[in-house]
Amino acid sequence: MTALLEAYDLVKHFPVRDAIGRKRGAVHAVDGVSLSVAAGETLAIVGESGCGKSTLGRLLLGLIPPDEGQVRFGGEELTQLSPAALRARRRDMQMIFQDPYASLDPRQTVQDAVAEPLRLHRIVPRAGEIARVASLLTRVGLSPEHARRWPHEFSGGQRQRVAIARALASGPRLILGDEPVSALDVSVQAQVIELLRGLISEMGLAFILISHDLGVVRQIADRVAVMYLGRIVEEGPSEALLAAPRHPYTRALRAAVPGGGRRAAPVSGDVPSPINPPSGCRFHTRCPHVEDICRSVVPPLADGVACHLADRLPPFAAVVDRQPN
Ligand code: SF4
Ligand code: MG
Repeated sequence: MTALLEAYDLVKHFPVRDAIGRKRGAVHAVDGVSLSVAAGETLAIVGESGCGKSTLGRLLLGLIPPDEGQVRFGGEELTQLSPAALRARRRDMQMIFQDPYASLDPRQTVQDAVAEPLRLHRIVPRAGEIARVASLLTRVGLSPEHARRWPHEFSGGQRQRVAIARALASGPRLILGDEPVSALDVSVQAQVIELLRGLISEMGLAFILISHDLGVVRQIADRVAVMYLGRIVEEGPSEALLAAPRHPYTRALRAAVPGGGRRAAPVSGDVPSPINPPSGCRFHTRCPHVEDICRSVVPPLADGVACHLADRLPPFAAVVDRQPN
């Protein structure tokens, strides 16, 4: 598959200053990330909160500039575009957020919320707006009558459908969802995921899902990139990666979800601060397999996994079976 979006060696640090403005370090939000996503493909970026996934998402859409690295969309280098050209590109790249309540203006009717991108990008003449909004609402499983209503009149799941209709309005080629179903009940999550899956395949969209929830990821992703403290530690096809995770961090995440082998040890300890993160392998402070080399040498992402011991670790299933009850 040809990639629609490609990112190379992205770095984004945020300086941390003390009370009198002296630089005291930097949050290493994203530290050398490369990835790509093709039309019709869903890539999930997975990790605990604070691992840099949302910053990575904003870099990928050109919403913030990287310190280093490149993002190419449809062959075009985003960091080279003028602000006006970048704004025009937004039409092709849309975002869905976790909290549809916050992303919809409470003073806008659904009609106005969904029509806004149509006007912004001059997609249909005013006279055609009502019909276009009606068709977008139908597409996301709502009805044209919903256009006259206000966000507060809807359930969380319906509001997320409105947010999806709004994201679809400009006819994007790529959608990035930052925890798009995390605020919803599990049964509603499944419906919204089903809707997204259908839209991705019918419209040939590229979809980037940012999520901490492997249960959600399993339902929709073709490929998964696991992020830990600003770096990708494992990457691969979703089914294989979730069935047989290779990186100790992925294994720990995997063991923590139902059906993941509850007897396996969960990730012990807290996520270290992304300000001046651990040397060598950033997971070494929590890894049960840590060796000397891990503390000093950064493991490269090779053959889909960034771990010095990847070839020596026991198979995942064996890890699960060996644990006492
Ligand atoms: Fe654990 Fe070392 Fe592998 Fe890092 S490189 S995950 S510390 S074994
Ligand atoms: Mg986040």
